[in-house]
Amino acid sequence: MSMNNERYDILKNIFREKKFFKLVCGAGNEDLTEVRRLATIYTLAGVSMHDLSANIDVVEAAKKGIERAYELAPMLGKKIEIRPYLNVSIGLKGDPHVRKATIDRNVCVECGECVKVCRQNAITEDYSVMEFKCIGCGDCEKVCPSDAIKYLHKLADFENILPECAKSGVETMELHAVTADDGAVMHDWMLLNKIITDNFISVCLDRSLLSNRHLIERIKRLYGITGGRMIVQADGVPMSGEGDDYNTTLQAIACADVVMKSGIPVIVLLSGGTNSKTGLLARQCGVNAHGVAIGSFARKIVKRYVTMEDFDSNIDIMKEAISIAEQLVISNIEAINGGHQGK
Ligand code: SF4
Ligand code: SF4
Repeated sequence: MSMNNERYDILKNIFREKKFFKLVCGAGNEDLTEVRRLATIYTLAGVSMHDLSANIDVVEAAKKGIERAYELAPMLGKKIEIRPYLNVSIGLKGDPHVRKATIDRNVCVECGECVKVCRQNAITEDYSVMEFKCIGCGDCEKVCPSDAIKYLHKLADFENILPECAKSGVETMELHAVTADDGAVMHDWMLLNKIITDNFISVCLDRSLLSNRHLIERIKRLYGITGGRMIVQADGVPMSGEGDDYNTTLQAIACADVVMKSGIPVIVLLSGGTNSKTGLLARQCGVNAHGVAIGSFARKIVKRYVTMEDFDSNIDIMKEAISIAEQLVISNIEAINGGHQGK
């Protein structure tokens, strides 16, 4: 397909050279301060893309963060090679990335366990969930002794929100499709294809509800609509990457392996439980994915800095955070790339 979009060609080349790294801020993360600060840190750390909640305020926060990175770059002796792409993610009903926890106060026994495990500090002292912070990871529900935590799926008017996001500078979009409902997936995929006509569109899939055969059939059908502009983000266990172990990342690599062996010529990214070990393990397993997307782990390693009050004014804090983020980005890209000059 020939398209008159230079940014598409640049992104295609990043995939070809296997130098792609995406920071996942979280499809459900609407904490504007966190998103802005993460965008600054990871832009300076050299990421190719920021993955955001499909919410115009979140997109604007990320843009501010990127602008700040450009302001700081000369002072820090850094050069931002390629302006990071902005991607927004939407999810189908039931997909964990887009749900929000809610606590039934009539059932809650106020044990405090959920507050302790919440990585987003989304649960208040009086046990209510701050929706804008909740990323739907499910950790609170797992520790709740009284079954007081359920989920809401926020219904959003994507037909209007997504074109607005595109107008504001979002270049690629992603559908989280952890559902067995093929019809619903196709409906939303058509919507994304209507809005993004000259750049990549991504589908994020894992195998929790699909057999390998179903997974591949679905990808084939979606590929029939999008063709070579398609990314498959092969998820392992979503939001499980807080630990830095091989086991959390193994499922992502297995899922990517299944997709790559299908021979469908899509771009394949590793995600869901990804961490500092991902690139290396993929290479050891002979899974030549095009890049890596990291969320929980990437946010966790800089969380200390991002939550500091004087983050915006203290250049030393910024420097430390960038150097930690940079290690994660570089180690993954080097391992994935492994000296490839494009294939
Ligand atoms: S533990 Fe996860 S699901 Fe529960 S409130 Fe925190 S972010 Fe939301
Ligand atoms: S873990 Fe469950 S019972 Fe304990 S405070 Fe949280 S919601 Fe209430």
